Amino acid sequence: MRINDSAIVERLKELGVELRPAVSLKEKTSLTIGGVTDELLLHRYDTIPQVMRLLAEAKIPHRFLGGGTNVLIADGELPWVVLHLPAAHPGMRVEGNSAFVDASADLGGMVTFCAKHDLGGMEGLIGVPGSVGGALRMNAGAYGTQIGPWVREVELYRAASGEVETVRGNDIRFDYRHTSFADDDVMLRVKLELPSKPYKEILAGIKVCNEKRRASQPLNQKSAGCIFKNPPGGSAGRMIDELKLKGHRVGDAAVSDRHANFFVNLADATCDDMRRLIDDVRERVRAAYGVELENEVIFWRN
Ligand SMILES: Cc1cc2nc3c(=O)[nH]c(=O)nc-3n(C[C@H](O)[C@H](O)[C@H](O)COP(=O)(O)OP(=O)(O)OC[C@H]3O[C@@H](n4cnc5c(N)ncnc54)[C@H](O)[C@@H]3O)c2cc1C
Repeated sequence: MRINDSAIVERLKELGVELRPAVSLKEKTSLTIGGVTDELLLHRYDTIPQVMRLLAEAKIPHRFLGGGTNVLIADGELPWVVLHLPAAHPGMRVEGNSAFVDASADLGGMVTFCAKHDLGGMEGLIGVPGSVGGALRMNAGAYGTQIGPWVREVELYRAASGEVETVRGNDIRFDYRHTSFADDDVMLRVKLELPSKPYKEILAGIKVCNEKRRASQPLNQKSAGCIFKNPPGGSAGRMIDELKLKGHRVGDAAVSDRHANFFVNLADATCDDMRRLIDDVRERVRAAYGVELENEVIFWRN
């Protein structure tokens, strides 16, 4: 989608928004799959409510992109623009056991920043790529740690009220890769409360998690992490593995040889290749186990 109306372009500029026309979202996602649309870089948090109201009034549909590590985006010309918080100089500070971090910050960067201030608890999140905003939305987690339990407050733009609001951690439901945020909430900042731990001890924990990840995941290939959520009490990866589907492919989309719940883009996979592979594997698991796998990856259709 192109924003061509010069009055809107001018107003966006006044609000500190950088409009990048016709951006290929292939370059913005870890799967390197995605079509083309205009990208709006929201350089100023303080003007976000005005920007969002402007887009609503002008009826410009939009999606919010973080690090692009958990999305599968349709190919071709996309009927919505993407909004993005640039991550150049994210705010991060620590006061006692509290960490205050901008949503645009890199999640791993936040974990190491807190570690350097002797604040631990998030070691398991070290290898989860993407932004803090994306991690909040997804309640990212690994190796027994999730971000949710550490959240004390989230500052967000709430489309329903048109205002920036601060929501208390206790008022947010953080479930397995699911949260109670509204679809159109935009995460801006988070306050976390973390346990004190010596830096060296945190580093040792981080090392263990990194090794586990390296040993089990195709980190040198293009993926979006786990494609399916694990069903209650089960493991999507184990079922796919038992069905001998590692290496199974549709076009350039393939089930990883290394981790059966990671689907990888071998070269030039299209969104359609990946979707057909996902549907095919889901169908085979349903036929063999009677289990309906739910996507963990978020699909943005055109
Ligand atoms: C190699 C690899 C390993 C992975 N391992 C794990 C793992 O161990 N555990 C795990 O949980 N995940 C894992 N993931 C998936 C992914 O990294 C996480 O879900 C991550 O938290 C997504 O963050 P993101 O910024 O990339 O979000 P995106 O992919 O950009 O977006 C995901 C969702 O969050 C929304 N969003 C992003 N930013 C904001 C914001 N500021 N405000 C509102 N909504 C926002 C988007 O609109 C979208 O709905 C892995 C991915 C890869 C590629």
